[in-house]
Amino acid sequence: MAIQRTFSIIKPDATKRSLTGAINAKLEAAGLRIIAQKRIHLTKAQAGVFYEVHKERPFYDELCEFMASGPIVVQVLEGEDAIAKNREVMGATNPEEAAEGTIRKEFALSIGENSVHGSDGEDTAKVEIAYFFSGLELVG
Ligand code: ATP
Ligand code: MG
Repeated sequence: MAIQRTFSIIKPDATKRSLTGAINAKLEAAGLRIIAQKRIHLTKAQAGVFYEVHKERPFYDELCEFMASGPIVVQVLEGEDAIAKNREVMGATNPEEAAEGTIRKEFALSIGENSVHGSDGEDTAKVEIAYFFSGLELVG
C-alpha cells in the first residue's frame, strides 16, 4: 500500500467538549501523522459548499447548521493507506453501529453530531485538502 494523504475534521461537538487531544491521540496511535492542522469557524455557507454532495439529502440543512455551530479543527493526515485507515479509526457514521475502540464509538453523540469527518476516496481527499489548505501549509 502506498503512502496517502487524507483530509479530516474534528467537528463542533468534539471541540466543544475539548476532545481534540484525545482524538489526535487515536489518529497518531493508528499511524496517521498530522502533517497540517488549524482551528477555524466555518460560516453556514462555507459548510454548505464543503458538504455540497449531500445537498439533496433531508439532513443537509441541519448538517450545515451544525458544522457552523462552533469551531472545528481541519487536518491533513498522512500515512500508509491513510484514507481507509482513517475511516477505520473513525468508525461507522452512526455511533450505535461503530466498532469498539473507534473515535465515533467512544465520543460521538449521534449520527449527526459524530465528532469527525474523513475523506472517502483519493479524489475527494484532494479536493477537500485544497478547500482548506494551501501548499505552503502542508509542512510534512
Ligand atoms: P463524513 O462525510 O462526515 O466523514 P460519513 O462519510 O461517515 O461522514 P456521510 O454519509 O458522508 O457519512 O454523511 C455526512 C455527515 O452527515 C455525517 O457524518 C453526519 O454528520 C451527517 N449525517 C449523515 N446521515 C445523517 C442522518 N441520517 N441524520 C443527520 N445527520 C446525518
Ligand atoms: Mg462522507
